[in-house]
Amino acid sequence: MAKDRALSLSHALGNKTVVPGSSPYNESLASYWSVQEENVYPNCVVLPESAEDVSIAVSVLGGSGGYDRTGRWHSPGEGCQFAVRSGGHTPWAGAANIEEGVTIDLSNLNQVTVSPNRSTVTIGPGNSWYDVYDVVVPQGLATGGGRVAIVGVGGLVLGGGVSFFSPRKGFVCDMVERFEVVLASGEIVQATSDSHRDLWLALKGGSNNFGVVTAIEQRVFEQGDFWGGFIGFDESTFPAQFEAFEALTGSPDYDPYASLIHNLVFNTTTRAWSAASNFEYTKPEAYPPFFDNFTSLPTTFNTTRISNLTDFTVELSASNPIGRRQLFVTGTYGNSAKMLEAIYLISNQTVHEMDAVPNLAFSLSFQPEPTIIQAASAAAGGNSLGLSVEDGPLFNFLLTMTWDTEADDEFVNQQGRDLYNQAEQKASELGVQKKYIYLNYAAPWQEPIKGYGEEIVAQLQAVSRKYDPEGVFQKLVPGGFKLFD
Ligand SMILES: Cc1cc2nc3c(=O)[nH]c(=O)nc-3n(C[C@H](O)[C@H](O)[C@H](O)COP(=O)(O)OP(=O)(O)OC[C@H]3O[C@@H](n4cnc5c(N)ncnc54)[C@H](O)[C@@H]3O)c2cc1C
Repeated sequence: MAKDRALSLSHALGNKTVVPGSSPYNESLASYWSVQEENVYPNCVVLPESAEDVSIAVSVLGGSGGYDRTGRWHSPGEGCQFAVRSGGHTPWAGAANIEEGVTIDLSNLNQVTVSPNRSTVTIGPGNSWYDVYDVVVPQGLATGGGRVAIVGVGGLVLGGGVSFFSPRKGFVCDMVERFEVVLASGEIVQATSDSHRDLWLALKGGSNNFGVVTAIEQRVFEQGDFWGGFIGFDESTFPAQFEAFEALTGSPDYDPYASLIHNLVFNTTTRAWSAASNFEYTKPEAYPPFFDNFTSLPTTFNTTRISNLTDFTVELSASNPIGRRQLFVTGTYGNSAKMLEAIYLISNQTVHEMDAVPNLAFSLSFQPEPTIIQAASAAAGGNSLGLSVEDGPLFNFLLTMTWDTEADDEFVNQQGRDLYNQAEQKASELGVQKKYIYLNYAAPWQEPIKGYGEEIVAQLQAVSRKYDPEGVFQKLVPGGFKLFD
């Protein structure tokens, strides 16, 4: 079936459908971030150049049939399994690629256009955030987006998205005014707060469950250079840092310009932990007092400077190279220094059991989620993440493991899972367990959509039934996190 549909696609879309052995096919696979995603081999890759091309592809693959732009009729049929891919940064195999099916690779949907009145930017989902900042920053503008230049646009926005500006503006999805979406029927709709509002809200966290997003129009705002960079600390400062993190995250006067990625890294050669924390303050003010509890501690290195958004995201890209085996596991907990310490202690035990894994890189990232993020989301019209100010200050933890050989996959994954289970147990003991799981960091066995809460899951399911009554994006797009699991 997949081969028949691939043939229909190549009739309909000509050389925008590429097959194994061709250079564009190989380039598409080689541009996935993780080796696990790169090693998934679809029967063909479709490289649409417009929403109309995506519409043809979805009509053919979804089995709804229809005329292509050459006037050729494609009969309705059973359809065939496919994947939707923007930047391809989800680490796990099959999230945005598919073995033996068809992968729609949106990388040629790469427009970045600032509106004439400088209020929004329209972004093709196939861009990296570098491409976006490269256009808006020279115009004295910014928008919410990835903090690592190479990361893709489409997946990040549809899963929520955390940016340097989140305390000021909410999640990245909260900045979206309009999604252009190709529905399962092939129809192209514009979802805004006024038109298809239910779809607009559902896409803010609902990932690939409703259609293929072919353009995203986001608000922009005036933004000049600001202060940021990495500061290094050694392990002896960890207890003071956990206290500083709790005080910052829970501050009733959280400074909206402050954002932090507190990274703890285990060096497998020296067998020592250290912190490489990324501080950003989105004003041109060095060492703002809000970070004093961290910056007054003894440091080991420091790259902080006043610079621009693009530069800071390029700096973060250096520590996230493409082409290795990768695992993300994530949790969200109530703000607590004790919980940070517990995750660190569990991780220390875990990593010491992993000596046999060659070239292992092991790190933890803690990110504050102060309540002003939730307040900003509500002010922007809401989203589908299921978070509210009443949840109180939270923090996100992301475990990242990177390694070289397939033979270690099972062991590394199991260690990640065990670590998470122990963290959940500890969170329950400390009374800081939360149902929310950040979709964009989730491992395939986690259930981020369930974590949005029953009411939102029911709303998302209703939106799916309305816009995709045959369940094309549930049954034929198995990658990612589904609504009816
Ligand atoms: C190095 C690195 C840095 C990161 N930094 C950040 C960060 O600063 N902030 C943050 O919030 N997250 C960050 N993330 C996580 C990131 O948000 C996710 O990896 C996200 O999925 C990346 O988007 P993508 O377009 O590359 O996703 P892809 O892997 O291409 O897709 C992810 C999922 O979304 C679906 N999808 C993608 N595009 C579309 C579309 N147009 N229409 C419908 N469905 C679609 C896919 O089918 C897939 O299931 C980072 C990840 C990495 C690897």
